[in-house]
Amino acid sequence: MCKLAGPAPTLRCPCGETKLERVLDYNDPPVGEVSFPIIGSYKRAYMRCVICRHFFSQHEMDMSSLYGGDYLNATYGGREGVRAAFERVSALQPSASDNHHRVLRVNNFVDTRFENKDSGRSLLDIGSGIGVFVSGMKSMGWKCTALDPDGRFSEHARNTVGVKTTTCDFADVDISGWGNFDCVSLNKVLEHVEDPVAFLRKTSRLLSARGITYIEVPDGEMAVLDGGGREEFFIDHHHVFSSESLASILTRADLELLQLERLREPSGKFTLFAFASAAI
Ligand SMILES: [Zn+2]
Repeated sequence: MCKLAGPAPTLRCPCGETKLERVLDYNDPPVGEVSFPIIGSYKRAYMRCVICRHFFSQHEMDMSSLYGGDYLNATYGGREGVRAAFERVSALQPSASDNHHRVLRVNNFVDTRFENKDSGRSLLDIGSGIGVFVSGMKSMGWKCTALDPDGRFSEHARNTVGVKTTTCDFADVDISGWGNFDCVSLNKVLEHVEDPVAFLRKTSRLLSARGITYIEVPDGEMAVLDGGGREEFFIDHHHVFSSESLASILTRADLELLQLERLREPSGKFTLFAFASAAI
């Protein structure tokens, strides 16, 4: 039986609103979208909250098993493609690299918040993918753990990047006994998750006393001005965020918002980023 991906229109938006408007319709994949094997007849839409302008994907394709294998195969063409993508992104000039700016952004923020520039900073990167973020953070002295549902991404992070790894679906795994981290990062992860509030709330249980969560998501408010064909609205995104909806989701996940900004990345992506701590 097909499962409806993303909340039904009658469900409540994280901001509290129940009224959604249908704003983007797709009968064919937009240019550049990866073709996932789970897709049958292609028909989908985005609904948008009339108050906070959060986008919800509507379709009847079951994507629950995507990140255990099909996502990597379709996006990178298998193990060798992961290594090649890591090397290509790692070789970008700093000015052209989204990841270079991300690593600086997190370190600059942490430097203003943590009292000592000690060497014991610990990071859990959820949805580590090709591993460029953990690689950059490791080079800045962080003790990194890379988490991904696909064991081939973990193997790459372990063998090529040289960090600890965990292979699991964070939404389902029992995190008791995992300890605490100074930073839990979610770079372009929450848009792929059906219930971002529950997912984020779980990260708050993993933060050390000084710990922060760093989140990046696609910025629907800016992207939609450019039309619905942009990558921010590709099929694997259950959610596309607004600054208001991201703030609402953080609050509902027992996190305290410290900073939220939007940016246009060197790659051209419209992105919202936020830092949050566990709510006291
Ligand atoms: Zn809303």
